[in-house]
Amino acid sequence: MRTMKKGGWPTRKKILLTVSILVIVMCACSSKTDTKLPITEVRYDLLNTVITISIYEDVSDIVFSKVFDKIADIEKTMSAVSTDSEISSIAAMAGKSPVKLSAEAYYVIKEAYDITVASNGAFNLVISPLVKLWGVNTPSPHVPNQADIERVQGLLDYSGVVLSDADRSVYLPNEGMSIDLGAIAKGHAGDAAAEIVRGYGVKHAVLDLGGNIVAIGGRLDGTDWRIGVRNPIVGESGYIGVLSIQDKAVVTSGGYERYFESDGQFYHHIFDGRTGYPADSGLLSVTVISASSIDADKLSTVAFVLGVRDGMDFLKAYDDTEAIFITTERVIYLTPGITNTFVVSDDRFRIEAEQK
Ligand code: AMP
Ligand code: MG
Repeated sequence: MRTMKKGGWPTRKKILLTVSILVIVMCACSSKTDTKLPITEVRYDLLNTVITISIYEDVSDIVFSKVFDKIADIEKTMSAVSTDSEISSIAAMAGKSPVKLSAEAYYVIKEAYDITVASNGAFNLVISPLVKLWGVNTPSPHVPNQADIERVQGLLDYSGVVLSDADRSVYLPNEGMSIDLGAIAKGHAGDAAAEIVRGYGVKHAVLDLGGNIVAIGGRLDGTDWRIGVRNPIVGESGYIGVLSIQDKAVVTSGGYERYFESDGQFYHHIFDGRTGYPADSGLLSVTVISASSIDADKLSTVAFVLGVRDGMDFLKAYDDTEAIFITTERVIYLTPGITNTFVVSDDRFRIEAEQK
């Protein structure tokens, strides 16, 4: 395995890995046939996380450079922080005029807008002023005062946002409004990366975008990939269960992914625009499994904000979409289609058939 830092693509990355290294991405890969998988694995720091592309076939280095170039491009376009991204130009023109976008940025914003409307603002594409106020994605997060929270809540109303398919433009009606694609851009990057990898004829690969997984095909012997579902307890690590899948995206939203502590309280990075505070729906995490990575990403955020009952209800409208809800009581609720493919490995957690 080679860990790459920004600044140069690897020249040669062909390595024989043993199963122990795969623990990072998967767990319990104990089949004898897998102990010496020919795997090329490359890591790179992008999208504020570590991206690991593992291809279980003989492939050209070009596949990796194409994938990482693409992800770097998505990061540049969709960053809420960078001042020259398409996203920041929309904020700069808020209350003044619409901004024309590239096809790709418009596609992701439209997905974000549609899920915002469908979820009644549980997912909110213009949550950015609130996220910035709390500073959760900065080195100095803090609990804001109530007056500031209320002022910023006035900027979260998405009803006046205008998207125009005709010229691919986006308009934010009030100065101070801005877009945050943090809950969906990585999902899109997963789809885009998978499209490139599949385009080179690859049939066995696992793409790990900081815990957002896209599994391509199955293992070499035809069996399922076994994906560990992260222990969602803050401060702990490892997995609490294993999911068996092929050709699926697996995306988790969890409070443990980014949080800070203040006066003995934990505050995480997924907000409920209605309260102005981190969502408090009784969940530690939600993992969504779908054929599409962008869908899994947006839906895991929605479900995390909504909680078990409303989240389960919401997901019913999406075909072939399964989910694992883990509550603060360490109870796991599964959607019906996943009951045979998820196995708990940590006995502090228990699966309940239905929410009472
Ligand atoms: P995820 O891990 O996919 O659930 O995305 C969380 C990230 O999305 C946060 O770090 C914020 O940048 C942003 N975010 C936080 N709350 C929301 C929300 N309610 N709707 C949309 N994006 C959000
Ligand atoms: Mg998300």
